[in-house]
Amino acid sequence: MTFSIHGLAVARGIAIGRAVLVASSRVNVAHYFISNDEVAAEIERVRVGRNAVVDEIHRLQRTISHMGPKEAPHELTALMDVHLMLLQDEELIQGVKHWIADRLYNAEWALTTQLEVIARQFDEMEDEYLRERKADLEQITEKVLAAMNGKASPMAHATLRSPRRAAQQDLLLETTVDVPLILVAHDLSPSDMLQFKQSVFAGFVTDVGGRTSHTAIVARSMDIPAVVGARMSSHLIRQDDWVIVDGDAGVVIVDPSAIVLAEYGFRQRQGEIDRGRLSRLLHTPALTLDGQKVELLANIEMPDDAAGAIRAGAVGVGLFRSEFLFMGRNGNLPGEDEQYEAYRRALDGMQGLPVTIRTVDIGSDKPLDKAARDDAHLNPALGLRAIRWSLADPDMFLTQLRAILRAAAHGKVNMLVPMLAHASEIRQTLSLLDHARAQLDKRGVPYGPLQLGAMIEIPAAALMLDVFLKYFDFLSIGTNDLIQYTLAIDRADESVAHLYDPLHPAVLRLVADTIERCNSRGKGVSVCGEMAGDIGFTRLLLGLGLRSFSMHPAQILAVKHEVLRADAGKLQAWARSVLEAEDPAAAFAA
Ligand code: PEP
Ligand code: MG
Repeated sequence: MTFSIHGLAVARGIAIGRAVLVASSRVNVAHYFISNDEVAAEIERVRVGRNAVVDEIHRLQRTISHMGPKEAPHELTALMDVHLMLLQDEELIQGVKHWIADRLYNAEWALTTQLEVIARQFDEMEDEYLRERKADLEQITEKVLAAMNGKASPMAHATLRSPRRAAQQDLLLETTVDVPLILVAHDLSPSDMLQFKQSVFAGFVTDVGGRTSHTAIVARSMDIPAVVGARMSSHLIRQDDWVIVDGDAGVVIVDPSAIVLAEYGFRQRQGEIDRGRLSRLLHTPALTLDGQKVELLANIEMPDDAAGAIRAGAVGVGLFRSEFLFMGRNGNLPGEDEQYEAYRRALDGMQGLPVTIRTVDIGSDKPLDKAARDDAHLNPALGLRAIRWSLADPDMFLTQLRAILRAAAHGKVNMLVPMLAHASEIRQTLSLLDHARAQLDKRGVPYGPLQLGAMIEIPAAALMLDVFLKYFDFLSIGTNDLIQYTLAIDRADESVAHLYDPLHPAVLRLVADTIERCNSRGKGVSVCGEMAGDIGFTRLLLGLGLRSFSMHPAQILAVKHEVLRADAGKLQAWARSVLEAEDPAAAFAA
């Protein structure tokens, strides 16, 4: 039966494929396709892993058979019986074989997929005792996974695929897998999402998340249709269901009829044609009709994203979210050399164009690790995040500052500091930067000059621009947070997503003032929040005087298309009227 689920549109386009349900706790498991001649070996890997767990339980049973009821209560022996029974369950065994042999899933992926299928059946059971066996099933799956991987972190397994193997698998994708796959999950952390960047999925759906949550931002950077905040989707959609992800409308259609499929197939092809047309603008300079030069920069998460930025025609990186180097590493933060190499790689990738490295912005919906998610604090978005986190750990911050300074010896580097609100934070940051230079001098290590910038993403910062203009060479407006903090709504919470309003008069006033003050003082100013890559706002921002936009590479050509059709001079009066309107949204649409 066809039904649709409404969520928030995150990344454009249409994806049509089969659903792959992934439990949030298991997204770190490797997901890749194998070749036909690897099928037997993958099935064998699961068998060996399963047998290892069975042996372990048998050993335990033998040990406790010598114990009295006090040390080995009856519940424990009963539990072991249940685990053995689950491990030998035909549905589990046959299901895993099916995913490996028929769908060419790697062993871990097949095992967790079948786990999801059976777990769903447990969820639907009336009997509470049987329902609770789901936890046992999860436990034994976890054990089999560990036994298969020799306890190695599944994350490491997923990301340490050799380039040869990756290329081989990409090839396999084209040759052996004819049906695109849509990942459906309750929630994905930004670092989970990043892990899927080179993955097999053609679309994403999550139950939770706001339009500018960091999970959504990473999904958008992948340029794959995605819908977040599609509540209950991970419950309503079943493993292997056919789904359509309409990333333009924010709708997921489950089990579509032939007519609906044909309609969306047509729209999908139309989208491809439109993209093809836009690609003709790649080498066209971004000039408005009245000759104003506009700088279109890229937002990146990892050094290797620089290649995509160049391919999209970016003239530099306006925001390198360096925190993605720090996430999902079980607290093992990258050292100075590792960071230096990463920043250098981004610079090399940009082939001499400038790279704006933002100092680490950990906290809120970007925890260092999923386990470290800041649920302990009531308002993590107002807590120890971004520069606050950095200043709380000067050694960590100095390490990053030295790495950035060293990278600056190899190209044009701008350093951008997130979430500043106090003059004292600015002074502390600058003094730590001096200290980092002194440390490098002492070691005799070369470093280069930096242009220094601050993010304007807290209303307090936008209201004390003089201080920022005194200390910084340029400012970058983070509209995602500026909107969140001005309107007091959590950007990651889909239940207040309808209040997330870039056209709210207060937001527009702060954005417009920042642009105007920077322009009149001759300081660089750009917008690097999602608003910059939304073609619905290009004309307004141009009219407000903005000439530098930083966005996901996938959006650059569409924004360029808007720039080429705009007369910035004429847009000025219209933008002012929107700004002064009681209801800017109405004036904007008029
Ligand atoms: C912003 O807040 O607009 C921004 C660009 O930073 P982030 O989205 O990483 O918080
Ligand atoms: Mg921000």
